[in-house]
Amino acid sequence: MDHLSDLDRHFVLHPATNLAAHQRQGPLIIERGEGIYVWDTQGKRYIEGLAGLWCVALGYGEDALVDAAAEQMRKLAYGQLFASRSHEPAILLSEKLAHWLPPTRSGDGPWRFLFGNSGSDANDTQIKLVRYYNNVAGRSQKKKIISRWNGYHGVTVGSASLTGLPVFHTHFDLPIEGILHTDCPHHFRHAEAGESEEAFATRLAANLEGMIQEEGPDTVAAFIAEPIMGAGGLIVPPATYFEKIQAVLERHDVILIDDEVITGFGRLGTPFGCQAMGMRPDTMTLAKALSSAYLPISAVAVPDWMHEAMKEPSDKLGAFAHGFTYSGHPVAAAVALRNLQLFEERDLIAHAARVGQHFQARLAALGELPFVGSTRGRGLLGGLELVRDVSAKRRFAAEDKVAIRVAALALERGLLVRALAGDTIAICPPLVITEAQVDELFDCLQSALRAFADETAR
Ligand code: PMP
Repeated sequence: MDHLSDLDRHFVLHPATNLAAHQRQGPLIIERGEGIYVWDTQGKRYIEGLAGLWCVALGYGEDALVDAAAEQMRKLAYGQLFASRSHEPAILLSEKLAHWLPPTRSGDGPWRFLFGNSGSDANDTQIKLVRYYNNVAGRSQKKKIISRWNGYHGVTVGSASLTGLPVFHTHFDLPIEGILHTDCPHHFRHAEAGESEEAFATRLAANLEGMIQEEGPDTVAAFIAEPIMGAGGLIVPPATYFEKIQAVLERHDVILIDDEVITGFGRLGTPFGCQAMGMRPDTMTLAKALSSAYLPISAVAVPDWMHEAMKEPSDKLGAFAHGFTYSGHPVAAAVALRNLQLFEERDLIAHAARVGQHFQARLAALGELPFVGSTRGRGLLGGLELVRDVSAKRRFAAEDKVAIRVAALALERGLLVRALAGDTIAICPPLVITEAQVDELFDCLQSALRAFADETAR
């Protein structure tokens, strides 16, 4: 262990980390990045196959973003949005976002943007908006939010409650009251033998309707979903899923919160994931690629009808009493605005759609390898699920930690990918990746999977 590794193990408490294993193994310390590549402190180069944590959309080392930050820091390093104060970066970013988003579902007015610093705090804001809106609308019973098993929405008390992964609840005394979880739309794992994607979607929508009826439609306010589940296992919903789910939501006056934290800003080859997956959201959660992660910033997109409903009540109370010191931080907002301008100047969504086709073809081809049970994704987002027995879809034993093993073999070969729950490997490179680099990525991953197959067959 070198000096930095020692210091790390002594002084850093790592999030989302096996704390015991970390003390044994120490950290992987990344020092610099350029485009889709990063280098560790030993000088070894890796393809950043997960764009950091699904966020560095524009790639590393983008001088235009550095300049935007430096310029804004010199001009006005901090400005607030509390009590009607404002500043140009937050205003122009909001206007830009309003043009990027699909029209509001009711189509009757503009989106407004409530800024935060992370996907988690933005989803907490969503929970608070659901409460505030229904309270001021005189429907104080209508508060429950339905999320899905394997959904990932963050780690704060509220957003971790939305997250449908037990490891984020155990020992944290979560979920909080009023958060429910319905089925995970994982056809490969949860469909009955011979059940088509459509039939599976119909069953899940019926289960959701059953849950709403059992709880009482007057008590259920919202449903939150990622267009494609990311951290919970890279799960693409079955055909017709959102169409059927939304019909249920509409019948019971339940709003749809679209968590675009991973899928927003071109990841699926469309501006937002909802457009690729047939969702018509009432509100949206944005983060990550909003600034390509050069600075932390998130946003909740609030439709006009919600703003209208809250306006007068906030007047009576004296304020809409929610927001952070750093809501719409001018430097983060200036960087996000420049980031979106670069997306436009470089036609990055069309690039992602085009290169995404090659990416999906290479991903699908991995399905031929031993122990690969399922490959799935859209655009430049993909996952593959490892199984002991492909025809029976039989899992490996949990203690085999096979996805972690494959990720380690990929790392040896200069590729960073993420091992997820459910023995799934996630791939989500910076959107600037070229077709040749997609080949480089998948050649590495294929080699890692072959090595895994060899050692497993032995
Ligand atoms: N929602 C989704 C869909 C996410 O993937 C994440 C993070 N991976 C979050 C919310 C939480 O974001 P953050 O880590 O910025 O709090």
